[in-house]
Amino acid sequence: MFLPLLICVSALANDEPAPSKPIKQASAKEEATASSGDETKASSKSKKANKESKADMAARLKEEQAADELAAKIADKLALIRKEKEAAPRVAPRPIVRSYAPPVKRPTSIDDTKIKATGGHAATAHWSYEGEGGPLSWGKLSPANAKCDLGERQSPIDIRDGIRVDLDPLTFDYKSSQFSVIDNGHTIQVNMGAGNYINVSGRSYGLVQFHFHKPSEERINGRGSEMVVHLVHKDGEGKLAVVAVLIERGKAHPLIQSVWNNLPLEKNEAVNALSNMDLSQLLPKGREYYTYMGSLTTPPCSEGVLWLVMKETIEMAPEQLSIFSRLYPMNARPIQKHAGRLIKESN
Ligand SMILES: [Zn+2]
Repeated sequence: MFLPLLICVSALANDEPAPSKPIKQASAKEEATASSGDETKASSKSKKANKESKADMAARLKEEQAADELAAKIADKLALIRKEKEAAPRVAPRPIVRSYAPPVKRPTSIDDTKIKATGGHAATAHWSYEGEGGPLSWGKLSPANAKCDLGERQSPIDIRDGIRVDLDPLTFDYKSSQFSVIDNGHTIQVNMGAGNYINVSGRSYGLVQFHFHKPSEERINGRGSEMVVHLVHKDGEGKLAVVAVLIERGKAHPLIQSVWNNLPLEKNEAVNALSNMDLSQLLPKGREYYTYMGSLTTPPCSEGVLWLVMKETIEMAPEQLSIFSRLYPMNARPIQKHAGRLIKESN
């Protein structure tokens, strides 16, 4: 598309000086012939002018000499102009290309400024699941979110083609704990008191919080679920392990009901529940799971997160689903690139 435009433009460029070429040449020739015409007129006049004095003759000769010199100068200039004109078409496309190159380069520089502008805007920019602050913009909202755009090990993914192996057993060491519920503007989150752990591959991770997404962020062989609960754990080195439990429509879940019972009236204000919670009641009976390395599914999309997705789902009543739906009808990040990651699953 660009090449014909260039050809068109360079053709125009060649055409442009061309009309002036014959005009200038013509005018110069006219000048030259005019002066030489004067010369011939002058010589015919000199025959008649016998009566003219020697001084007058000398003056005339000088004038004629000057005219000759002028004609020679004009001829030189003409030759020079011709040379420049001949050279011009060869040189012209280059500056034309250069003058047309910036618009081609401009989009990247505009992007840069955009990134800078939105980066500067980061302090006030809020991420969301739809519209301006939606998932496709997360990476541009702040330089800290670069992984959201550029990361190669992002979550969630469609879990498929896992390698069936004897996975290390995933054990839960959950006990009755105090909890508080917060609506953080992106989801309903439950902060748990200390003392809840998971153990996998010889590592122990302490539970920090759990929260919900609707619909489920992860898919299994292309299929999503009504909702998912993410149980976020951290080990002593700060490494994250997230257990995902998929939720299907079905029977009412008493533990989820106790979370809904403590929903805060205001956003970002944690409500301390009066009763304790035993999170082991949230888990499915089966302990089979899929595992892969991924990221946080919210900004800053940090990678190096160990994902443990339970194969067995849990149930939640339609009324319970609709309560969450009224607060967050859709708070799931779209599926991310698989990027050749290894997925393992329990036999
Ligand atoms: Zn989550």
